[in-house]
Amino acid sequence: ERYVYRFGGGVSDGGSGDKNLLGGKGANLAEMASIGLPVPPGFTISTAMCTRYYEEGETFPDSVRAEVAQGIAHIEAITGKTFGDATDPLLVSVRSGARVSMPGMMDTVLNLGLNDQTVEGLASASGDERFAWDSYRRFIQMYSDVVLGLDHGAFEEALEIAKEDKGFTLDTELSAADLKALVAEFKGLVEQQQGKPFPQDVHDQLWGAIGAVFGSWQSDRAKVYRRLNDIPGSWGTAVNVQAMVFGNMGDTSATGVAFTRDPSTGHNAYYGEFLINAQGEDVVAGIRTPQYLTKAAREEAGAKPLSMEEALPAAYTELAAVFDQLERHYRDMQDIEFTVQQGKLWMLQTRSGKRTAKAALKIAVDMAAEGLITREEAIARVDPQALDQLLHPTLDPEAARDVLTKGLPASPGAASGAAVFTADAAEKWAADGKAVILVRTETSPEDIHGMHAAKGILTARGGMTSHAAVVARGMGRPCVSGAGALSIDAKAKIARVGGREVKEGDLLTIDGATGEVMAGEVATIQPELAGDFGTLMEWADAVRRLKVRANAETPLDCRTARDFGAEGVGLCRTEHMFLEADRVTAVRQMILAEDEAGRRAALEKLLPEQRSDFAEIFEVMAGLPVTVRLLDPPLHEFLPHEEAEFSEVAKAAGVDVDVLKRRAAELHEFNPMLGHRGCRLGVTYPEIYEMQARAIFEAALDVADKSGEAPIPEIMIPLVATKRELELMKAVVDRTAKAVFEERGKTVEYLVGTMIELPRAALRAGEIAEAGEFFSFGTNDLTQTTLGVSRDDAGRFLGSYVEQGIYPKDPFVSIDVEGVGELISLAAERGRATKPNLKLGICGEHGGDPASIAFCESVGLDYVSASPYRVPIARLAAAQAAL
Ligand code: ADP
Ligand code: MG
Ligand code: MG
Repeated sequence: ERYVYRFGGGVSDGGSGDKNLLGGKGANLAEMASIGLPVPPGFTISTAMCTRYYEEGETFPDSVRAEVAQGIAHIEAITGKTFGDATDPLLVSVRSGARVSMPGMMDTVLNLGLNDQTVEGLASASGDERFAWDSYRRFIQMYSDVVLGLDHGAFEEALEIAKEDKGFTLDTELSAADLKALVAEFKGLVEQQQGKPFPQDVHDQLWGAIGAVFGSWQSDRAKVYRRLNDIPGSWGTAVNVQAMVFGNMGDTSATGVAFTRDPSTGHNAYYGEFLINAQGEDVVAGIRTPQYLTKAAREEAGAKPLSMEEALPAAYTELAAVFDQLERHYRDMQDIEFTVQQGKLWMLQTRSGKRTAKAALKIAVDMAAEGLITREEAIARVDPQALDQLLHPTLDPEAARDVLTKGLPASPGAASGAAVFTADAAEKWAADGKAVILVRTETSPEDIHGMHAAKGILTARGGMTSHAAVVARGMGRPCVSGAGALSIDAKAKIARVGGREVKEGDLLTIDGATGEVMAGEVATIQPELAGDFGTLMEWADAVRRLKVRANAETPLDCRTARDFGAEGVGLCRTEHMFLEADRVTAVRQMILAEDEAGRRAALEKLLPEQRSDFAEIFEVMAGLPVTVRLLDPPLHEFLPHEEAEFSEVAKAAGVDVDVLKRRAAELHEFNPMLGHRGCRLGVTYPEIYEMQARAIFEAALDVADKSGEAPIPEIMIPLVATKRELELMKAVVDRTAKAVFEERGKTVEYLVGTMIELPRAALRAGEIAEAGEFFSFGTNDLTQTTLGVSRDDAGRFLGSYVEQGIYPKDPFVSIDVEGVGELISLAAERGRATKPNLKLGICGEHGGDPASIAFCESVGLDYVSASPYRVPIARLAAAQAAL
């Protein structure tokens, strides 16, 4: 089996289609080389080797050693340099690269191949002694950290002291002699810490680094990142070995990172940062404040240090041409790493750039308009879940702001929360249900769990492409980075800025769109849903087949849902209408009644209230279908539970406390979820459903009279298991309709159907369909009853179930396609065999989950119903499912 794939110098053994085997980085390096871009030559050791490495006790087979030797020979042939050569040595980088990018999660070693001899060769061959020793000190520092696992703090400290001794602030001020002394000190540190000298054999160095990159796949931080992002551990990482190019060869050399469009706003303008006389890591690590790429961006920010466009015009022009070529080739916004060595441009990485939801929308819509992609592709490019970011409130521009300082607008959105100064504190506070803003000097991959737990992230150092910024954008967390005026003392849990102090727990607000950092909480407003959002939604609506409704039970929810494009209400629960303060007394009176006459008397009082509830909802939803579910929960939910409440209620209801308590005890159930609820209430007390049906029909007629547009009530009977139950309940509804229509001398169109939420109902769907006109899959209860898992008690074990792969995802979030899904498709099939025009929908949490929506499309349901804020997500997901 082959494990090594070459690229560069006119050879590309792989290409962008080989991401699974070569990792994203390796596949794209090969692709860039094959389209003629300047890529330093190298080779990729495949992810298959990573898997084998772990299978065989972290060892390498001889065949791979031979392949790697050939790979090195390939690089030597193209560069004309020899690995380990004392006069003109080849140096390489050893880079990790998984299928999907895991920013900063895994390790990379630069300048490998330097030792006490080759450093002299590098100095004389390049004619630049300072550069050679700078590279050597970087190499020892990185290798000691990544491969030898030594304490990197000691090396950083030695570097700081070396600068301080000379009164320098920048690494670049150190002379060749300073760096030579520092290398000697570094080597001393290595010997002291590991008890043997720094490895001088370049082949040992190479294999050490390859092993370390494979090893980093199983590091704790990589594991956490994989868990948060659903990345299987079985994928493994590839290793890329590539000829070094040097951005640290003086003022005509530089290194940078860039995006072909703005990843935060989506604007079609080159966007990036670079540093003169520096190496790769320097830009992201925030060692110096990076410079702007374009003159326009520099001027807009009012910054002094020259942009790349001004400082290195020829390399910039070449880079801009590469941007355009890459966008045309990949037909997507690219995230790029480059280095300029003595005026010559080299490409070191490209990938589809991570972007905010706002940028994703704009880029998709713009690229479709530019003709780069089709509308269908634009629809497919936007992650429906990410729209969530846009549907939520932003800071009210009118609200007062107590601005503490300003940083860079690194990831948009606004967040308020208590300041915390460590990732662990963020996680702890969040677990206690508190909103927190994680405040750090800069973040590192070790902070990832805290960033995830935080509502927003604030850093004092680092640019727009710093770790904090990249990770925050990926997670959809608002972030302000590089707020340089902040001085943070994480140990003392305090931040100081302009004479003010922010202590742990103090409220902060950050605005990731402007970079502002404010004391206290700032009021928010609803977002604008026009522009690119509206355009993409229009395109989505044109291709989707599934209709999208909302689960809504108040006029406000219905309004929100309609504004978000809902085409009806898929689930209007009625129990909340029974719980309102002024009504619960009548409800309790009904429950306590000894006979039907008593219940009817109480229901009589509830009728006008229910009628006005429905009228308000029907008015908002005029002309659209509204599915109303008749009363579902067990009656004792409406009775008091506390001792004090009992006497109060007894007094109000005019009954003895003991009578009340006896009745409450009678109603007690061992397992209310499977108890006297749903249509079982209607079967035993048909007068309840009769009152509700009357309220619905009277309200519908009232609204039709008033607005001239009647709603289309779809009356839904819950928790049906048998055809007979539905028949009985439908008879109650039809009888009531007939009575109301006769009284009024008018009719409205209506349907009677049922929720399918019990396995028996799904199995007997063929005959149940004879008795009803629609099915709505109540997937919350159907999941509970199919899996035999109570949703409210699942928290204790479901996490372990998902971790151990028993269920691929939380079945209450994303439909269990194999089990619950099979019941749904079977019920749909059997129901439609009886009644071809049977209307089919889904209500329940799953109606807003993109994966579940794709499933609904595959079984041919007519609509999905989701909570109002998820309606746009469902519209886009439904369109993607139809593509
Ligand atoms: P990451 O995945 O963390 O970005 P990379 O492997 O891309 O790690 O490398 C880290 C940094 O080193 C990047 O800025 C990259 O551009 C730089 N780098 C990697 N290989 C080389 C090379 N052969 N020559 C010069 N710089 C390099
Ligand atoms: Mg990189
Ligand atoms: Mg239910």
